[in-house]
Amino acid sequence: MLNDSFGRRFHYLRLSITDVCNYRCDYCLPDGYQGGKPSGFLSPAEIETVVGAFASLGTHKIRLTGGEPSLRKDVPDIIQRIHAHPDIHHIGMTTNGFSLEKSVDTWADCGLDSVNISIDSLDPKMFNAITGHNHLPQILRGIDRALSLGIKVKVNVVLMKTINHSALQRFLAWIKALPITLRFIELMQTGDNQRLFDREHVSGQPIKARLLEDGWLPFLRDKAAGPAEEFYHTESAGRIGLIMPYSKDFCASCNRLRLSATGKLHLCLFAEQGLDLRDTIRAGDVDALASQLEQLLGDKQASHYLDAGFTGATQHLAMIGG
Ligand code: SAM
Repeated sequence: MLNDSFGRRFHYLRLSITDVCNYRCDYCLPDGYQGGKPSGFLSPAEIETVVGAFASLGTHKIRLTGGEPSLRKDVPDIIQRIHAHPDIHHIGMTTNGFSLEKSVDTWADCGLDSVNISIDSLDPKMFNAITGHNHLPQILRGIDRALSLGIKVKVNVVLMKTINHSALQRFLAWIKALPITLRFIELMQTGDNQRLFDREHVSGQPIKARLLEDGWLPFLRDKAAGPAEEFYHTESAGRIGLIMPYSKDFCASCNRLRLSATGKLHLCLFAEQGLDLRDTIRAGDVDALASQLEQLLGDKQASHYLDAGFTGATQHLAMIGG
């Protein structure tokens, strides 16, 4: 089993399958993807080896992320191979949603269970200003399609002072009849976004206070469900989640590990560097990979130390997936 020296259990893998992204979000890749010709990403067969090793150590949930995972043409094959593993009970994907409307039927057929879509503003002009793309209407249609197929939907909103901090009511009105979970994520400082972070970072605590005042109730989640706090309201089909990495004890409920698109294990989103597992992955040796993972987990730190301004080697989250 993947346990660390702080008593945390890791049953959830965030697997990046590309670091390429087609969006230019202000806080992540404001100048767009700068990595040159994409290459060296794990192949579907290598992903199968990774999944086999993690599953043998108790992982039962896998989330595909990036970069923008849906830019890979072999996403259906990847989902299918993961789905074929009997111990993986949940496959999710974090995506900007630009191809959701077109692709979600195929992904659902292949075994995808859930999508997390990033929408930082429900105002099409603001959405365009943040991402560099005019895709909001097609993303919203994609969400409707996903829901109609029984795919669970969460929407990630990165909280920013001048962009969406005062838009709570508009978001709440949107989810009143929509059975999705809307998750407000505190903007995290990375190596590249210091200036924007200083200008835009806001705590999620005032939103929590406002929700509680307005009759939202804490939804008691399983201890192993990870660090998000969730709220529900009897008059809303949608729920709210708050992800507040700067709050005390955030890391105590960490339940996830990350693997980069080139096969580097990240014990934390903000760990100093990835631990290169590519040779073992390439060899296709599931058992050797599993014992390497168990060994490496001993080095996982208690906290990300983000509150002390530590961002590790993480220049932006597209590097290893948010
Ligand atoms: N391209 C996909 C997407 O847009 O969801 C997946 C990758 S993206 C890096 C994953 C998530 O990280 C998105 O919800 C994004 O908004 C969030 N994110 C990126 N940079 C962030 C930051 N500095 N602080 C908080 N969230 C961030």
